[in-house]
Amino acid sequence: MKALQYREVGSAPEVVTVPDPEPGPGQVLLEVTAAGACHSDISVMSWPADDFPFALPLTLGHEGVGTVAALGAGVTGVAEGDAVAVYGPWGCGRCLNCAAGKENYCLRAAELGIQPPGLGAPGSMAEYLLVDDPRHLVPLNGLDPVTAVPLTDAGLTPYHAIKPSLPKLVPGATAVVIGVGGLGHIGVQVLRALTTARVIAVDVNEDKLALARTVGAHETVRSDEQAAAKVREMTGDRGAQAVFDFVGSQPTVEMAGAVASVEADISIVGIGGGSLPVGFGFLPFEASVSAPYWGSRGELHEVLELARAGVLSVHTETYSLDEAPLAYERLHDGTINGRAVIVP
Ligand code: NAD
Ligand code: ZN
Ligand code: ZN
Repeated sequence: MKALQYREVGSAPEVVTVPDPEPGPGQVLLEVTAAGACHSDISVMSWPADDFPFALPLTLGHEGVGTVAALGAGVTGVAEGDAVAVYGPWGCGRCLNCAAGKENYCLRAAELGIQPPGLGAPGSMAEYLLVDDPRHLVPLNGLDPVTAVPLTDAGLTPYHAIKPSLPKLVPGATAVVIGVGGLGHIGVQVLRALTTARVIAVDVNEDKLALARTVGAHETVRSDEQAAAKVREMTGDRGAQAVFDFVGSQPTVEMAGAVASVEADISIVGIGGGSLPVGFGFLPFEASVSAPYWGSRGELHEVLELARAGVLSVHTETYSLDEAPLAYERLHDGTINGRAVIVP
């Protein structure tokens, strides 16, 4: 089969032919119908060779949707032909956190060598994908594969970040979204669907700000040195009760801290390497800072239900597998509006 692989540290990903995978006991083989390109893959491909955490070559793609093509021995509960989304942050399935569906916070994944597809295990940017266990599949139930696939990460991750802040996003509250790319443009819509808060979106790129307005942001602000002051002014200097930073660079985490209100939640989702000091005098009183990772199995069901309710409009640009390297070039250059989706 064809697969998009990152083969050597520092090189561009390549489309290659690899053996067709076969499902072993307990595994499920999917024929991939859509695979999303996440900015985290750009980070992975920028890491140096010293202590690079994954074996190479690595088939990319940690957002995947497909049709069940074959079942390994002993698999029950799914049938050939089922259209399913893949829950990506695989865990052991048995530890305390996995028992609660929070496989993203599995206590034993590292020790057992369990890695997500596309982030260690062979990923979804291929004609076929092996899924280690049917519990990692969620039925699509009528959702379109191309617009559903970003929900498995670009939807799930903002949903998981936003959910704990819902009690603070009461009428009259403000939520700030920094970075309106794949994650951010869905984050804006999750906020609009679940809260009455005013949503202010911040980005460096005018096209992304236009997309933010299209998907429901009340206000947009260009990301520069004046941005934090503008956002504070929009809130009557009260600040925002929840800030979601989908960039995570040093300037954006500082902006996140600067626009926060007292008792705000500051959620740093982007892996841009920025850090924010906490302690008296650094942030508004009682502000909380978190760095959430992906989401739980239950939350993936909830995000797909939100899409079925018709309140999420996922913007995608589609590419064939052969064009996948181009999709990553554009993602790197910041010219994808919404999510790039590979249709093998
Ligand atoms: P993306 O490239 O689609 O979007 C990033 C957006 O940020 C773009 O619209 C870009 O214009 C904007 N941006 C860049 N610099 C900015 C700045 N200084 N101020 C404001 N906006 C700026 O990326 P994505 O796939 O949505 O991923 C977003 C981030 O989240 C990445 O860092 C990615 O690695 C990370 N991520 C984290 C998790 C997690 O579990 N924590 C999961 C998925 C992705
Ligand atoms: Zn991702
Ligand atoms: Zn576990």
